[in-house]
Amino acid sequence: MAPSLPEPFRSMDRNCREELRALRGYPENRFADIIQEVGFSCDRCARCCTRAFNGNVQLLDDDADRIGRRDPAAYEPAFPYDFCDRNGTFYVSGYTIASRGDAAGSCLFLDEGRCRIYDERPVICRIYPFMLHREPDTEGTTDWRQISGLDEHGCYHTVVPRAEAVRIARETRAWEEALLCHELAFLGFIGHYFARNGLRHVRKVYDDRMRDYTEGAGIRVMVYFCGRLEPWEVRAGRARRLTE
Ligand code: SF4
Repeated sequence: MAPSLPEPFRSMDRNCREELRALRGYPENRFADIIQEVGFSCDRCARCCTRAFNGNVQLLDDDADRIGRRDPAAYEPAFPYDFCDRNGTFYVSGYTIASRGDAAGSCLFLDEGRCRIYDERPVICRIYPFMLHREPDTEGTTDWRQISGLDEHGCYHTVVPRAEAVRIARETRAWEEALLCHELAFLGFIGHYFARNGLRHVRKVYDDRMRDYTEGAGIRVMVYFCGRLEPWEVRAGRARRLTE
């Protein structure tokens, strides 16, 4: 029998499994109803392709692999990082697309308001703005969210045929499930990695190293990808893959 995970990984693993159970139990018809009621349609404002509006473009391993083959410099460790050990090394569950470095943090593939890799874009870009997970609102009440950036972009009350709403609901749930399964794999891997190497997550070291980073120091980040850790150095917003 595999040894149990140390904290905080065990609690996070439990919460993640609970989210997965809740997601699988969410009625598809209710989700499709909401998609039809909201009637979102894209108006090509391209705001969703900026970090200022959306933070990270979260990549599943298949996305990172496909995008990395096209351009190895197109992805980098996702932020914020999940853990930091007592030696100041950070750990994160995956990659994000690099930014163009402008004030809005536009996606590297955004070109004059259009996606340069539209046919190969990551899964998250295909399902956006639909989502299906629980998160707290501004008053701290946790509930299901189905549309990202509701009323902040796009057009509403357009007609969405039922078959289309069901397709969106299925694809969105599949994405959320894949993300939770990836997170569980990461927690299991990193929890045992920490236990095996006598490491533990230290919040104070995390904060101290992030402060050093904002003052110009380089930081070492290990990225979980395809069941292993890949080492990177990040300095002044630039990420460099290390070979070792
Ligand atoms: S990959 Fe394309 S669709 Fe996705 S954020 Fe970048 S520009 Fe937008």
